[in-house]
Amino acid sequence: MNRNEQLFNRAKAIIPGGVNSPVRAFGSVGGIPRFIKKAEGAYVWDENDLRYIDYVGSWGPAIVGHAHPEVIEAVREAALGGLSFGAPTEAEIVIAEEIAKIMPGVEQLRLVSSGTEATMSAIRLARGFTGRDKIIKFEGCYHGHSDSLLVKAGSGLLTFGNPSSAGVPADFTKHTLVLSYNDVTQLEETFAQIGAEIACVILEPFAGNMNLVRPSEAFITALRTLTEQHGAVLIYDEVMTGFRVALGGAQSLHGITPDLTTMGKVIGGGMPLAAFGGRADIMACISPLGGVYQAGTLSGNPVAVAAGLKTLEIIQRPGFYEQLSERTGQLLAGFNAAAADAGITFSSDSIGGMFGLYFAAQPPQSYADMTRSDTDAFKRFFHGMLNRGVAFGPSAYEACFMSAAHTPELIEETVAVARDVFADMA
Ligand code: PLP
Repeated sequence: MNRNEQLFNRAKAIIPGGVNSPVRAFGSVGGIPRFIKKAEGAYVWDENDLRYIDYVGSWGPAIVGHAHPEVIEAVREAALGGLSFGAPTEAEIVIAEEIAKIMPGVEQLRLVSSGTEATMSAIRLARGFTGRDKIIKFEGCYHGHSDSLLVKAGSGLLTFGNPSSAGVPADFTKHTLVLSYNDVTQLEETFAQIGAEIACVILEPFAGNMNLVRPSEAFITALRTLTEQHGAVLIYDEVMTGFRVALGGAQSLHGITPDLTTMGKVIGGGMPLAAFGGRADIMACISPLGGVYQAGTLSGNPVAVAAGLKTLEIIQRPGFYEQLSERTGQLLAGFNAAAADAGITFSSDSIGGMFGLYFAAQPPQSYADMTRSDTDAFKRFFHGMLNRGVAFGPSAYEACFMSAAHTPELIEETVAVARDVFADMA
């Protein structure tokens, strides 16, 4: 038994399923999860001392590469000054000012510790602001695991073939309407019927939890117009897309200003940091100013803020996103050609440093589309790549992530590996 297997068995005895987040268990692809002992740049190493070129990037945060020396130094310095104070710090103001400068829709914000907290708080705030209960989300979008959002959620849950979660009372989700991504008619009909009761619409502005799915321009425009007309709050969940598809997130590419934005992943640079923010008049409803309660012992944690601030500094250096997009383009062009040469049905898409690989002729436009992709082919691809030293997320429903540490040479190496794997699959 190798060390990954030993550790997985030991973990399963003490941690349910052996993991602290379900998708890590390899449930949908089968096999033994790799226990990671270190990461640097574009690489991770497992407990068997095998090295992998990593396109998981901790599920998004590692945009500047793992263990970037400047980020590590910032964390070290902050840690020497104390790990947590439970009191305000100047660094929190600096990062809040920085985020507001970058994100078009953010006038004010609150720092929290996870994307789940950010979306949960943003929805409570939207309900408090509007005095309404109903919320709209879209099938296949994942917004963390708070009760009212665990309705046909994406990634982990979908891959386990379980559209919702046990333990969530129907009463908690009865105000959550689930519509189809990119279905403008359904959205219009819903607003025509109950527009005055809708507190907010929350969406992934490029979906990344049913693999990568782009919104159509008509869908994005309808969302902004209808929410404005009916006094509902438009929430862009940019936990994944923020600072990832472009510096200013999806909203800077759509040219749409949402009322509230949730952020996470990249803003913590690998540490637990997330945020929600938006219009100052809405943010003024939060305690202690307003009646919407929200709090956190570790919110604005100084070590997490230091990692986030340094990461935000690095990604604002000239040419960062141009290079990231170029590298993603290089990878996908190589994959497309290799799959075509092997006669494999395959397509791909990318926005900035986020990309999707589909075992389908075209990128999907909705969750229903995605379910028609060939998940068996994905499994074979996934294990073929992993066994040859390239790591992707262990599910066909996950988006993948490029980092600044993935050099053109590493990308060429990845493409050469994919060429072998596609040939084996043919
Ligand atoms: N929102 C989106 C779009 C996400 O992708 C995720 C996590 O993957 C979350 C929210 C939840 O974030 P966290 O896992 O930090 O709670």
